[in-house]
Amino acid sequence: MAQLADRVAVVTGASRGIGRAVALEFARRGATVAVNYNSSAEAAEEVVRAITDVGGKAAAIQADVSNFEQAGMLIEAAIKTFGRVDILVNNAGTTRDNLILRMKEEDWDVVIDTNLKSAWNCCRAVVRSMMKQRYGRIVNVTSVSGIAGNEGQTNYSASKAGLIGLTKSLAREVASRSITVNAVAPGFVPTELTSTLPPDIRDRLNDHIPLGRWATVEDVAYAVAFMASDEASYITGQVLSVDGGLVMG
Ligand code: NAP
Repeated sequence: MAQLADRVAVVTGASRGIGRAVALEFARRGATVAVNYNSSAEAAEEVVRAITDVGGKAAAIQADVSNFEQAGMLIEAAIKTFGRVDILVNNAGTTRDNLILRMKEEDWDVVIDTNLKSAWNCCRAVVRSMMKQRYGRIVNVTSVSGIAGNEGQTNYSASKAGLIGLTKSLAREVASRSITVNAVAPGFVPTELTSTLPPDIRDRLNDHIPLGRWATVEDVAYAVAFMASDEASYITGQVLSVDGGLVMG
C-alpha cells in the first residue's frame, strides 16, 4: 500500500461521496487532511471525527472553491493550520444535466465554475508554495464523460475534458520542481451525484461495463491515493481511468 505518512493534503468536496472516501483513505495511509466542503458542515465534521477518533489529523475548512478568493483562502487556511500543503485533490463537482436545447446558461456556468474553474483556482493558490518546497502532488477528479462524452452532459463533459487539458498543461509547467499533476477518471460511482438515475437505467449500464459493476468510492480513492504517493513520482500528465473497462484506449 502506497503510504502518505507526514503528508498534508487538501481534498476539495470531501464532505461526502468520492471526496470523503479519498479523505479517509489518505488518513488511513498517514496523511493529515484538510476536509473542504461548501455547504455540508455537519457531514464534513463527521469526516474529521472519523479521522481524529482513530488518531489521525484533520480539519474541516469551508470554502466555495468555484470562487477565486475563497479557494485562495482555503489553501491559506490549510497552510496556516498544518504548515504546508503537499497534496491537492480537486474533487468538488456537480451536475446540471439536460439536452442542450433545454439547458440554461446558468446550468453551463455553474457546472464549469464548480468543476473546472475551481480546480484552476486551487492550483493557482497552491502552486507557489509547492514550487518553493520542490514537492507536490495534484490529482484532478475528471470523469469518463470528459473522455467519451455523454448525452445530456455538454456542460459536465466540457468541464471534465477541460480538467484533462488543465492537468496536462500544468504538469508540463511544474515538472521541473518535482510536482506531478494527474487526473483520475471514474466511470459510474453510487453517490448523491448519480442518485437520481432510475434503478433500471443503473442496471442497464452494468451491461456496458466489462467488469459488470459500478465502482465503489473506495475503488476511486485507492487510485487517487496512488497518484498522490511517492510511488507515483515518475507519473505526470496522465489520466487514470477507474471505470471497470467502460472506456479503453
Ligand atoms: P457528491 O457526492 O455529490 O459530492 C460532491 C462534493 O462536492 C460534496 O462534498 C460537495 O460539498 C462538494 N462541492 C460541490 N460544490 C462545491 C463547491 N463549490 N465548493 C466546495 N465543495 C463543493 O459527488 P461525487 O459523486 O462524490 O463526485 C465527486 C467528484 O467525482 C466530482 O468531481 C464528480 O464530477 C466526479 N465523478 C463522479 C462520478 C460518479 O459516478 N459519482 C463519476 C465520475 C466523476 P457540499 O455538500 O458541502 O457542497
